[in-house]
Amino acid sequence: MLGGSVLWFRHGLRLHDNPSLNTALEDKSVPFFPVFIFDGETAGTKVVGYNRMRYLLEALQDLDNQFKKYGGRLHMIKGKPEAVFRRLWEEFGIRKICFEQDCEPIWRARDECVKSLCREIGVGCRENVSHTLWDPDVIIRANGGIPPLTYQMFLHTVAIIGNPPRPVDDVDLRGVNFVALPDSFYQEFTIFDKAPKPEDLGIFLEHEDIRMIRWVGGETAALVQMQNRLAVEYETFCKGSYLPTHGNPDLLSRPISLSPALRFGCLSVRRFYWCLQDLFQQVHQGRLGSSQFITGQLIWREYFYTMSVNNPQYAQMAGNPICLDIPWKEPEGDELERWKEGRTGFPFVDAAMRQLRTEGWLHHAVRNTVASFLTRGTLWLSWEHGLQHFLKYLLDADWSVCAGNWMWVSSSAFEALLDSGECACPVRLGRRLEPSGHYVRRYVPELAKMPVEYIYEPWRAPLDVQQKAECIIGRDYPAPVVDHRAAAHRNRSAMQELRRVLEKAPPHCCPSSEDEVRQFMWLGDENQIVVNTDS
Ligand code: FAD
Ligand code: MG
Repeated sequence: MLGGSVLWFRHGLRLHDNPSLNTALEDKSVPFFPVFIFDGETAGTKVVGYNRMRYLLEALQDLDNQFKKYGGRLHMIKGKPEAVFRRLWEEFGIRKICFEQDCEPIWRARDECVKSLCREIGVGCRENVSHTLWDPDVIIRANGGIPPLTYQMFLHTVAIIGNPPRPVDDVDLRGVNFVALPDSFYQEFTIFDKAPKPEDLGIFLEHEDIRMIRWVGGETAALVQMQNRLAVEYETFCKGSYLPTHGNPDLLSRPISLSPALRFGCLSVRRFYWCLQDLFQQVHQGRLGSSQFITGQLIWREYFYTMSVNNPQYAQMAGNPICLDIPWKEPEGDELERWKEGRTGFPFVDAAMRQLRTEGWLHHAVRNTVASFLTRGTLWLSWEHGLQHFLKYLLDADWSVCAGNWMWVSSSAFEALLDSGECACPVRLGRRLEPSGHYVRRYVPELAKMPVEYIYEPWRAPLDVQQKAECIIGRDYPAPVVDHRAAAHRNRSAMQELRRVLEKAPPHCCPSSEDEVRQFMWLGDENQIVVNTDS
């Protein structure tokens, strides 16, 4: 029996700010086993499209490469976690298993299984909070045992708790006692000598299109992306503004977003949070008191995680105490498929839905557009359909963050503002967010030659214009799946009626104010800060 410790990677696919790595290597002389286990679920692999799977596998390869520099490797094993750990204990007498807290309730059964094995065989189980800024359980306790239901309440609660911890120090991997797995393991489990390809796991590319933007997974890439992002944030702060991805949504350039890296933990949320706060202080030299608004988006992430912790029903309407029941209709004909495949006949929606499937990415404002179209805006179908589709294809798809956003945009956010044409009309939204029409032309090539005045409503183009654009509506590109105006009118009345019936609705997930809705939907240009620059 050699003893030894295991670092079980699930999310948190990084070496920086990884307290579980520090815990696992408290004594560097004992054998160290960093492992990732393909159990068919972990890290969101149950229902997963090609892009996210590739992103994950690249992140694993990146860890493997980093360990190799020190004579080790990441053990990538297919099997059940408890079976793998039992064998490591039998073979090496491991003394502790370290992992980052996965706070969502969907991971509880998996983790309970491992914790109970640890109790049975007398191995220590060490769980650290580092995927979120605060421990969700602490927030819930501070809020009197229930999660805060509005973002404002959430801000209030975390203000009482205080600043999130700063990142932990990096671990020096020199001299770590990496140990190879014995041959018997190779007979008992499938072990990958390098990260497999999605195809090896039975996941295939659905749409090949070399023009599309390709995201690269892994800590090394994420740290570079963060530096690029901080350079943009610096310029934005210097101009007296913040939230650079919001003001004027850029749907065409390579995104500077970090949500996929944060979702897999290739980038530590605490590292990003504190880099932003420190940069802001550096630029404004303490001339501004509070700077919480610059990291406000990261708080949305915390908010949605925290709401889900004790709510296994969080991703559905039935039995979900924080979601209001809305009598959505069942999909008729192929309308749901048309939404998923980008064949609704509304070019802005279709461009987005095709971008989602080819790239795994959608800008926040565009997510709002397609979510509203599916639900309260146009089709009046349940947000649960949208959630399932997003959970498969989005690179940053996160069970609770995704469900929380869907609830907020669709059902539980009963704000009148969300009924407005500004929020719900795919034609007006398209024009407002991307007046040039290039976004549609890129993802819906059938419309490449459609003049800009008709690009968002090509059914209104006269026949000779359609002929000249080589795109006859109803033949080369679909006619609208529904009459949007009529649908929007009907839905608006239905929402008004529901608001009346549910006047005394039970506490549910909802916006704090109309301003917050405007911010969330990225409708305003209010991300300006008044800075006193005379020193
Ligand atoms: P920034 O504005 O720069 O924000 C920084 C970080 O804060 C993001 O990287 C992200 O981690 C977090 N964040 C930003 N906005 C939100 C938000 N509304 N809710 C929670 N966290 C946020 N984001 C996900 O990370 N995973 C999802 O599964 C997801 N599903 C969504 C579904 C719908 C229907 C909608 C409307 C939004 C969803 N979002 C989701 C939120 C948001 O669209 C993305 O986080 C954002 O586009 C990331 O871009 P960014 O990094 O430039 O964001
Ligand atoms: Mg309910």
